[in-house]
Amino acid sequence: MADTQHSGSDRRKPDRVAPPKVLVTDDSTATRRILTRTLVDAGYEVSEAADGREAIAVCREEPPDLILLDVDMPVMDGISALEEMKADDRLRHLPVLFLTARTSGSEVAEGLDLGAQDYLRKPCEPAELVARVAAALRVKAQEAALQRQAEELDHLSSTDTLTGLGNRRRLEAHLSKLPPDTTASVLMVDVDHFKRINDNEGHAVGDLVLRVVTGRLLSAVQDRHLVVRWGGEEFVVLAVGAEAAEAAQLGESLRAVVSDTPFALNPFNTLVVTVSVGCASGFVSDLEQVLHAADEALYDAKRAGRNRVAVAGH
Ligand code: GH3
Ligand code: MG
Ligand code: MG
Repeated sequence: MADTQHSGSDRRKPDRVAPPKVLVTDDSTATRRILTRTLVDAGYEVSEAADGREAIAVCREEPPDLILLDVDMPVMDGISALEEMKADDRLRHLPVLFLTARTSGSEVAEGLDLGAQDYLRKPCEPAELVARVAAALRVKAQEAALQRQAEELDHLSSTDTLTGLGNRRRLEAHLSKLPPDTTASVLMVDVDHFKRINDNEGHAVGDLVLRVVTGRLLSAVQDRHLVVRWGGEEFVVLAVGAEAAEAAQLGESLRAVVSDTPFALNPFNTLVVTVSVGCASGFVSDLEQVLHAADEALYDAKRAGRNRVAVAGH
């Protein structure tokens, strides 16, 4: 008996899709009752509010999928409530349908200007109410899908396919979110004699080396550091808040983590891979110059014999 009940409830679970939640806001109890009944019959989960203030409180507690908002209400009218919602990051994107008893177009225009998705004139035919709510939710779902696609594209276009690291775009996006007076260090990490690896072992082994180097660099940095593939066999580590001494230490860790363990190509052949590192520090607002200084320091490290760290200005 208990088993049957158990499997029964398990079987039902995957089929259950939560019904969309609609918040009905109107100061008239009778209007709310009619709207609620129509929407519940159409399969929606409905909550109610008697004025704009209450509607906002409900939305902050548990955001619905859509709000029906009367215009004329005591305490806080629909226009003021919509204004407050648009000023709140968490409520801004909730679709709002205005309910208006008046025939005046200016009220409707004001609501639409403020970002309401549509409006309904009261009294409203049940079939029209259900159709408009469904249409507004469809638009909302399409917008959300577009937004997700845009985010995915953005992620793809800022990701390097070989290593899975971010690329220059990722670094730029990251920097654009930081206050310009933030201090940061840049470490430019370049694989030594990588061309030889390609020439001697083949391009596929070269690719593998880049992936293994990526893993090793990631193992030596902290969550607050950003590692990107700058291009070819060159990586950039951005250490926000790190001063020159800390950056030099980090550079040494990166150098060591790559060179300390030879790559086992097969049981009879190991490959020693090393990197050179150039470090520079400065403000986020001057990052172009900091990158340039790190590049110069990297060049110094190469000239001094490779497999070493050079700090700009030292
Ligand atoms: P140095 O020590 O001075 O840095 O010498 P290097 O040989 O590492 O530098 P160089 O710039 O001469 O050669 C880099 C090579 O990296 C040339 C290019 O063909 C190769 N390369 C760039 N991107 C990739 C890649 O994605 N995969 C592979 N396998 N090779 C790449
Ligand atoms: Mg190189
Ligand atoms: Mg290079």
